[in-house]
Amino acid sequence: MTDAVLELEHVSSGYGDLTVVRDVSFAVESGSITVLLGRNGAGKTTLLKTLAGLLPIASGDVRISGASVRKQPAYQRTKRGVGFVQENKRVFKRRSVEENLRMGAYAHRLGHKEVAARLEGAYERFPVLLMKRRDVAGHLSGGQQQMLAIAQALIGRPHLLLLDEPFSGLAPSIVHDVMESIRRIKAEDGCTVLMVEQSVDLALSIADRVLVMDIGELAHVGLPTDSDIRDVVEDIYFGRGVRPKEAPSSV
Ligand code: ATP
Repeated sequence: MTDAVLELEHVSSGYGDLTVVRDVSFAVESGSITVLLGRNGAGKTTLLKTLAGLLPIASGDVRISGASVRKQPAYQRTKRGVGFVQENKRVFKRRSVEENLRMGAYAHRLGHKEVAARLEGAYERFPVLLMKRRDVAGHLSGGQQQMLAIAQALIGRPHLLLLDEPFSGLAPSIVHDVMESIRRIKAEDGCTVLMVEQSVDLALSIADRVLVMDIGELAHVGLPTDSDIRDVVEDIYFGRGVRPKEAPSSV
């Protein structure tokens, strides 16, 4: 493996005595978009929270840019370049758009000039946020709130952006806009993206590589161009038996 931003080695995690994620190993190459698919309750969110440091790693190890983060709390991983946009916890709804963006900068202890430069960068990338910068975030549309949440995470210039179901609850036309934003984050910033998605169609249209989880385990690693990828994913979703699985590998 070369140039892996993220490496998981036999990671297990969960909630107290409940183990949800079991013995998961994979690596994610720099500058790629990896989509984690799986049916409800497969453990996708639990895995992202574990990577972000919101849940402890019960066993195994996680390396970011080659260094173990096993003992690092969430704020240290944020400083190391991990951004996390959680599902349904997108923005501070009673705060203005600009206050939300400033909160994204807070964890990084940036000087005034640097904060101003990064706000300008966020507004260039998401012009709608500039128009609405004094509006209360709760008054934005769902798509605009998702863009604000992503912009807030990008203020810290992460190397690795974790996105939990970024298209959830969005109208199809807005899904397209958010998808384009994610593609640009990869292309223009070279940011590596690991995102959770339930829709196979959306996952295959944006992913460089697809991981499928089932009952807390990594059930398949594939490419969106694999001729049998839809069948494999559907078999896992509908519990239709086990196909020969590719050994977990890097993307
Ligand atoms: P979904 O797409 O429905 O969010 P998921 O693949 O993200 O599914 P998780 O949210 O990671 O799945 O949940 C995996 C399992 O962990 C489920 O059985 C869920 O009930 C359990 N779980 C989730 N959060 C908690 C919690 N705070 N305490 C205990 N168990 C939890």
